[in-house]
Amino acid sequence: MTTDYRIGIGHDTHRLSAGGPLRLGGVDIEFDKHLEGHSDADVLLHAVTDALLGAANLGDIGEMFPNTDPKNAGRDSSDMLSAAAERVISLGWKVANLDCVVLAERPRILDHRDSIQHRLSEILVLRQDQVSVKGKTGEGIGPVGEGLVIQAQCVCLLQRIEKGRTDYGGIGF
Ligand code: MG
Repeated sequence: MTTDYRIGIGHDTHRLSAGGPLRLGGVDIEFDKHLEGHSDADVLLHAVTDALLGAANLGDIGEMFPNTDPKNAGRDSSDMLSAAAERVISLGWKVANLDCVVLAERPRILDHRDSIQHRLSEILVLRQDQVSVKGKTGEGIGPVGEGLVIQAQCVCLLQRIEKGRTDYGGIGF
């Protein structure tokens, strides 16, 4: 049996500004800073969205949701990720797994990993064991280490299912 696979990578950076909470991976984290951006600036969901779109060769999040469109101002990034996933699934793919890295000096990602993995699996209708999130600091140097930005990276593996399937049910199984 031949199975068709595609891999995609996503990367994103957002600046930190004073005042919480911090929206990260679809979760509001108690923190003294938030991320700046046109949408809700959820750097992890943006990287995941780009990984999905990249794997299906559908361009990137900026093309699908332009920041010139007022509809996208302050938009919940989980909406954008869901819409991107629906598009990918409609072309006959399912998500096999995601592996993500969040680069942040603070807060400690490990403290929030379970809730972020849970939220990501909820948005994408995956089992939680298909979603991996890891945290790294910047070791005190560079824009991450100085606490100026948070960055996120994601790789996503897509597996071919029947073409034209648009339902969400059990896409991860
Ligand atoms: Mg972004």
